[in-house]
Amino acid sequence: MSQAELVVRSALPALDPENPVDLFVAKGRVLGLHPAGAYPAPEGAKVHDAQGLVLLPGLTDVHAHLREPGQEWKETIATGLAAAAKGGFVNVFCMANTDPVNDKASVTQFMLDKALATHPRGPRLFPVGALTVGLDGKELAPLEELKAAGCRAFSNDGRPVADSELFRRAMEYASDLGVPVIDHCEDPFLAPHAGINEGAVSARLGLRGAPTAGEAIQVARDCLLAQYLGVPVHLAHISCRQSVEIIRRAKAQGAPVTAETCPHYLALTEEACEGYDTAAKVNPPLRTKDDQLALLAALEDGTIDALATDHAPHAAHEKETPFDEAPNGISGFETALSVTWELAQRGDLSTRALVSAWCVRPAEIFGLPLNRFQEGDPADFLLFDPKARWKVTPQALVSKGKNTPLTGRELTGVVRACFVAGKNVL
Ligand SMILES: [Zn+2]
Repeated sequence: MSQAELVVRSALPALDPENPVDLFVAKGRVLGLHPAGAYPAPEGAKVHDAQGLVLLPGLTDVHAHLREPGQEWKETIATGLAAAAKGGFVNVFCMANTDPVNDKASVTQFMLDKALATHPRGPRLFPVGALTVGLDGKELAPLEELKAAGCRAFSNDGRPVADSELFRRAMEYASDLGVPVIDHCEDPFLAPHAGINEGAVSARLGLRGAPTAGEAIQVARDCLLAQYLGVPVHLAHISCRQSVEIIRRAKAQGAPVTAETCPHYLALTEEACEGYDTAAKVNPPLRTKDDQLALLAALEDGTIDALATDHAPHAAHEKETPFDEAPNGISGFETALSVTWELAQRGDLSTRALVSAWCVRPAEIFGLPLNRFQEGDPADFLLFDPKARWKVTPQALVSKGKNTPLTGRELTGVVRACFVAGKNVL
């Protein structure tokens, strides 16, 4: 242990909290994980006391909107990455629906430069390139150029490609490049962007709702294409039981499909839209208790691989409009871990599934280095206070996006430190 530069003392491993450990780190990498007190800290090493804190590998968010360039009043890369660090994220994938759209190398480069200038030590930014030019769904974007510029995935998120032939070509091309395609599944004709589930609440409020079939139809198309072509596709923010069942069947048949869901689909239902609450307006919309149970079971059995925030910040005035006119989206970085941790505490989700969905599978699917706390792994980890309570208020959030239906809620669990390559970025 002589060369350790940092020793984290007496942390509680998330999956084995009864047995405190010391983590030894050098040169941004894990040297070893040992029973607490087994080895002295070498002279000169920095010691970080983690008594009572849970140790987790750093979280990877494969679906976030940082709004820069073009909508800096909602969020900037600087504020977005600061909020991500506060949430425990070490890797952040940012979607292409910026202004201009990230469909050319210069935009990708701009994002990477901004991230490096504002957060040189992390969290790391991974731009997601547009799948089609201008996200218009008509012409493939220059995927090779985008990959060369640093895009780590491609997606038309928010404006899914309706043309199945074009989507097929995109999947094949991206697969040749070895870059994953992320698809936001939404039939473009079945109440797109409604922001509320078609069901009891939408009927009561007199709003046009989006049926679960609108999502499931495109999930089915993508699964069939993936299986037919033998080419992978990653399905974004899955919200309902129908989609889960299609994915489960496709996986059983060997389709190279992976999927994610978001904390808000696990913690909230369509009832959050009561009173025309635009803070709960999100796309896909919040669904029902039955959908929630299906998503939890799917995380548990691996049908849904990953969690992602779909962090979508908006300014207050943009949400203070009639429900129909309000933009979709919830600001998600800073509440993500608390919300899912609470689910685990309640027994609705196992800690094993939580760690897999936040820390392991996203890194595996998108080919990022993964911290399993073995020698040589990147020293990406966080220390989480599982007892601390905090209240979700606009002031408590460092993101510019204060738009969350959790406002006023007390949550349990606070990220005390977020280490990227051995450096605390909080
Ligand atoms: Zn989306």
